[in-house]
Amino acid sequence: MINFNQPHLTGKEAHYMYEAVYEGKLSGNGKFTKRCQAWFEQRYGFAKTLLTTSGSDALEMCAMLCNLKPGDEVIIPSYTFVSTALAFLREGAKVVFADSMKRNPNLDAQTLEALITPRTRVIVPVHYAGVACEMDAIMAVASKHNLLVVEDAAQAIDSYYTSNIQHKILPLGGIGHLAAFSFHETKNITAGGEGGLLVVNDERFIRRAEIIWEKGTNRAEFFRGEVNKYGWVDMGSSFLPAEINAAFLWAQLENLDDIQAKRKQLWNRYYDNLSKVHASFSLPDIPDYATNNAHMFYLVLPDLEKRTAFIKYLKEHGIGAVFHYLSLHSSEYYRARHDGRQLPECDRYADCLVRLPLFYDLTIEQVDFICDTIRDFFA
Ligand SMILES: *Cc1c(COP(=O)(O)O)cnc(C)c1O
Repeated sequence: MINFNQPHLTGKEAHYMYEAVYEGKLSGNGKFTKRCQAWFEQRYGFAKTLLTTSGSDALEMCAMLCNLKPGDEVIIPSYTFVSTALAFLREGAKVVFADSMKRNPNLDAQTLEALITPRTRVIVPVHYAGVACEMDAIMAVASKHNLLVVEDAAQAIDSYYTSNIQHKILPLGGIGHLAAFSFHETKNITAGGEGGLLVVNDERFIRRAEIIWEKGTNRAEFFRGEVNKYGWVDMGSSFLPAEINAAFLWAQLENLDDIQAKRKQLWNRYYDNLSKVHASFSLPDIPDYATNNAHMFYLVLPDLEKRTAFIKYLKEHGIGAVFHYLSLHSSEYYRARHDGRQLPECDRYADCLVRLPLFYDLTIEQVDFICDTIRDFFA
């Protein structure tokens, strides 16, 4: 059986975890946490980063930093993971769901303006499959209406956006005011199963982000010697991971270039093989302004029936292919609160998108086998 996903070990994880344990500093914000954070700040130019216990936690910190009042509205694509919406709902916001684009599952920036009301406070673009949203258009709408932008970059490590307005290539997660990454074991790199990162790009949020991270205290300032005692100054929670998770993540960060090169090689093999299969499915779309970080290889089939048969056929041939999100606007939990707008592109991806196995230890031979099986299904 070729599983859909399999976590990859670089070989140094246990070594660094051992080092963390035997140096006796087990709780968070130690040597490995600082090393990981500095790595992200240097490599991508992020103003400030804080490791978190998950991508969901990083999103919750973003939502807390937005300082929302009950009834404030947040625009979120309906085709995303539950955590994107939950983080803001927990802060009392009203979630306004946006549709996806025709060309790929990302939020359709052209429909944004029509969703904005006097209560709108935040836009949350999700870079699906690590492919950039139309950030120039999104940032322009946000600045016109004085809104915050929180990037859900959970899948978007090491991916970039070419900004025509700024004439620059920008790392995803480094464009909005705040951003969240995930190191869950299904992502390109993992912090030992669960993990995340909060990115603060707008420096106005740095002080409060540290306080929220440190359970509502100004302990970070105390440790830097900036204040002579620390105490309870704001809201917060225990968002920081233990050092063993940061140590695990460090082993993966050290090898990120190798991991990315291998994933891209597999992704390109899928793309080359499957572009030669003439059948009614579409391949992933990477717009000119986006890069491919090989987070995911997906196909979009014509309808739900065909997709169900496709997944079953691959399973019978030992291949673990899986569908992805169900539309959040019609979920059991939210549908009564949704404003009733149809989101047809989101529903189409919910019914028709299928993800193929993609992980570091997959081989080119296995990709060829999967593609041959797909060709047989359509023949
Ligand atoms: C994985 C993911 C999350 C949640 O990350 P966790 O680390 O699992 O909490 C949020 N949003 C998107 C788009 C994701 O893919």
